[in-house]
Amino acid sequence: MDEPLATKEEEGLAPALNVSGSALTGILWPTMYRCPHCRHVYKLVFGPGDVFLGEGKRNCSMCHKAFRDRSKEWVEIRSLDRFFFVFPGFVCAWILMGTIACILLAWLGWSLGTTTMLIPVAIAFAAPLIAWLIFRNAQIVRSLHRSSLRGRTKPA
Ligand SMILES: [Zn+2]
Repeated sequence: MDEPLATKEEEGLAPALNVSGSALTGILWPTMYRCPHCRHVYKLVFGPGDVFLGEGKRNCSMCHKAFRDRSKEWVEIRSLDRFFFVFPGFVCAWILMGTIACILLAWLGWSLGTTTMLIPVAIAFAAPLIAWLIFRNAQIVRSLHRSSLRGRTKPA
């Protein structure tokens, strides 16, 4: 438990992105996570997300020293963080966009008399969302598996 905590840098890339366009920085808002020993960037997150599943410890790929990476297992995180883990900002925005598009097309379909337009649009919006949920579900299952393994070896 003596390992230092990883360095977190919000908007670390902002000056570089300001050159290409300030609107971009607002959307991307990257957060960099650095090794506290050698400042090697081991994780780059596009968004303010701070919930990661993991054992909480890792070894730097550059200097091979151990540190705490701010990650937690699924069983340890709060229910609000669980929600944001599965539905972060961009996923909520995607669902909202899909809903608006469906409403718009339903309204257009009503006036044009073609509701078949809705089906390909719905698939285009649902497919990446389903892929995302499958990806997150796999991460949660792995985390639960790690927790149960640890529980068996080290009874609390
Ligand atoms: Zn390092």
